[in-house]
Amino acid sequence: MTILAMLSGGLDSTAMLWKLLTGTGEPLRVHHIRMDNREGRADAEQAAVERIVAYCRAHCRPFRYTESGLELTQLEAIPIDYMAIAYVACQVAIDTPGCNRIAVGTLARDTDEANRSARQRRIFDVMYECYRARKLGEPEVIWIYPVHALSKTEVAALLPPALREITWSCRTPVRTASGFRPCGRCKACRARAEAAPAREISASPDASG
Ligand SMILES: [Zn+2]
Repeated sequence: MTILAMLSGGLDSTAMLWKLLTGTGEPLRVHHIRMDNREGRADAEQAAVERIVAYCRAHCRPFRYTESGLELTQLEAIPIDYMAIAYVACQVAIDTPGCNRIAVGTLARDTDEANRSARQRRIFDVMYECYRARKLGEPEVIWIYPVHALSKTEVAALLPPALREITWSCRTPVRTASGFRPCGRCKACRARAEAAPAREISASPDASG
């Protein structure tokens, strides 16, 4: 049976992917959603995801990778990510033979995590029912949370330093001549800074040489 792993390119979902790749031998389908909205983070995230996928394939094991896009750039409001993930995960699960699990990088420390995850599963369940009415998909699909119990620092420590460095967290990147740099101010940048001590510790053996 196959696990569908939803990859945003951030620390949490990359740690989830790495844990599934190294801790299980199960077939994976990895999917990234280009969240193209007023924040302007889609290109930075996509570039990170493509580097992450290449790294994981080279250093771990093969898996199927696909991406899709949700273009809502003319909206003033910022759409809720977990709804988009539920919506797209349903379509991709149906498109994946033998898919009976959906993995996401949600952490217990995330604000309102329990309620958001429950709402996300409800959105998915209602949509999946529509496909089941057409006798498509596996009878049961469950959501799994491989890094749920970890702190942000533990998540960062789980990743090989080279992989950690290519993840992307910033929600409002600043475009530069060579690409993007993190804004350093958004919620995701601040959460990532929390994980900084672990990064310095694990980087120190290399840095000393
Ligand atoms: Zn930022």
